[in-house]
Amino acid sequence: MTVLILGGTAEARELAAALDAAGVPVISSLAGRVARPRLPVGEVRVGGFGGPTALARWLDEHAITAVVDATHPFAERISASAAAACASAQVPLLRLERPGWTASPGDDWHWVEDLSEAATAPDVLGAARVLLTTGRQGLAAFAHDDTRWYLIRCVDPPQVELPAHHEILLDRGPYTPAGELTLIDAHRIDVVVTKDSGGLLTAAKLQAARARGLPVIVVRRPRRQDVPTVRTVAEAAIWATHSAHVEVILED
Ligand code: NAP
Repeated sequence: MTVLILGGTAEARELAAALDAAGVPVISSLAGRVARPRLPVGEVRVGGFGGPTALARWLDEHAITAVVDATHPFAERISASAAAACASAQVPLLRLERPGWTASPGDDWHWVEDLSEAATAPDVLGAARVLLTTGRQGLAAFAHDDTRWYLIRCVDPPQVELPAHHEILLDRGPYTPAGELTLIDAHRIDVVVTKDSGGLLTAAKLQAARARGLPVIVVRRPRRQDVPTVRTVAEAAIWATHSAHVEVILED
């Protein structure tokens, strides 16, 4: 009767805390990408499983009775792996995915399909100084650009080729609108590039861009597998608690 939470998000940590408080046994799983991850309460394992077949085996070996995929909206591979593994191991799977951001009056957002398109968009907009907040893994898409200046904000130092003119800012949310305004002004930013991550922790840059009338290039979320999905931690907690109780009844 153990729930596996595939994590790496604030929602995954909140869910682990809620289930722990409700007495539901939980294991949280992290990829191990960042040097100092924020850890959820309860048991935690770190590192890839080795693909869907290995994950299915792991589910069986650890007597996992339900899986909540609460990974980031842009973490495609682990979600695909979870869908395949849960199908083959016959373990119920729920996707917990926070809603994306929606533009407000005064926003000047430009939606793009992926990071490659995001890398060419500042040129289309005639921008010269870019606040780049898409995370360190996709930075290679911008490496070819030797004309613009980039303020690259990420949690850990990037280990890929970077655009010729840049400054690295190691930081992690939550950010405040006042802090983001200061950053934008200090570096004379004229365009912001972001993924549609959603949530409150990193949304302040959108308010700051609106206040300064700056365009924002927003990378659309990747298409998802057809998995039952909820938007809130409360809904996922109910589902996981119910799954745990059903398992107890079946065992009795
Ligand atoms: P990804 O491309 O979907 O995953 C790559 C591989 O990393 C997966 O195939 C899996 O390895 C392993 N992995 C990913 N998440 C895992 C987890 N929670 N537990 C165990 N293994 C995991 O993911 P990503 O985009 O590199 O993101 C890595 C992690 O960072 C995710 O957990 C995500 O929630 C978090 N995150 C991602 C972003 C983003 O923008 N992508 C932003 C914030 C946080 P195996 O195939 O070997 O199992």
